[in-house]
Amino acid sequence: MFENLSQRLSGVFDKLTKQGALSEDDVKTALREVRVALLEADVSLPVAREFVKAVQEKATGQAVTKSITPGQQVVKIVHDALVDTLTGEGEPGDLKIDNPPAPILMVGLQGGGKTTTTGKLAKRLTEKNGKRVLMASLDIYRPAAQQQLAVLGAQIGVDTLPIVAGESAVQIAKRAKQQATLGGYDVYMLDTAGRLQIDETLMQEVKDVRDAVNPRETLLVVDGLTGQVAVEVAEEFDGKIGISGVVLTRMDGDGRGGAALSMKAVTGKPIKYVGLGEKLDALEEFHPERVAGRILG
Ligand code: GDP
Repeated sequence: MFENLSQRLSGVFDKLTKQGALSEDDVKTALREVRVALLEADVSLPVAREFVKAVQEKATGQAVTKSITPGQQVVKIVHDALVDTLTGEGEPGDLKIDNPPAPILMVGLQGGGKTTTTGKLAKRLTEKNGKRVLMASLDIYRPAAQQQLAVLGAQIGVDTLPIVAGESAVQIAKRAKQQATLGGYDVYMLDTAGRLQIDETLMQEVKDVRDAVNPRETLLVVDGLTGQVAVEVAEEFDGKIGISGVVLTRMDGDGRGGAALSMKAVTGKPIKYVGLGEKLDALEEFHPERVAGRILG
């Protein structure tokens, strides 16, 4: 997908460069191609439209700069508009985790990479930020998931809340809060249960947990390869629970930029991190410039 997008763009821009002047028709032709390319990269139609409109407005008002070719100029306008759309508030990867113990709620569908990302982020907060982190699995439906988090914790040297059979998700969350307070932890991370699809029971349970701990950050973990589905999942979670940010996983795959662009444009929520592999250090802060650069190729 990335290749398609960048190839298409460079084809158009090559043409413009050769003509040596940036007419209104040139801009229109280029932007038609940009729109098609965005759609092919799984950017949603309204977002692609909006994006192209913004770029067209910027481009049309601009005189052709002598020092760069018209092609370069359009590339720059498109690039800047991509960065604009992708940029959230604050620094990349910023988390509000002052006032210990700060609860971070991890939400998302099953298989999106939630538990892995919880481990990755805990590792990062421990090693890079020097935080004491406690992790707790609230997945009472799948004992294997609770076990998975305990194994992850042991691997990365991060404490996990001991598993007590028969507790509800809210009870576990409250116990995590208590343990984090008594144990002097800076952060406690709650890895909520995922379902294959969004359902009311899941949402109600996450709401109850949210109300019990009042999370400082509620991070939605979604598979970046699912494109528009990821955006729909985000809208759903944001509408019902309220999320503070998004982690896009599997951006190491064919890494479509489309999901990132639609995600930010539609939900208005910042993408805080991207998952770049299965390894526990394969997590990066989200950098709009890098993603814009990758989209343009
Ligand atoms: P959960 O059900 O949402 O908790 O999902 P898991 O954390 O168990 O992850 C599901 C699978 O996706 C596992 O095999 C992970 O190793 C894999 N995974 C998670 N994040 C990434 C990522 O950023 N890139 C790749 N390639 N795989 C990932």
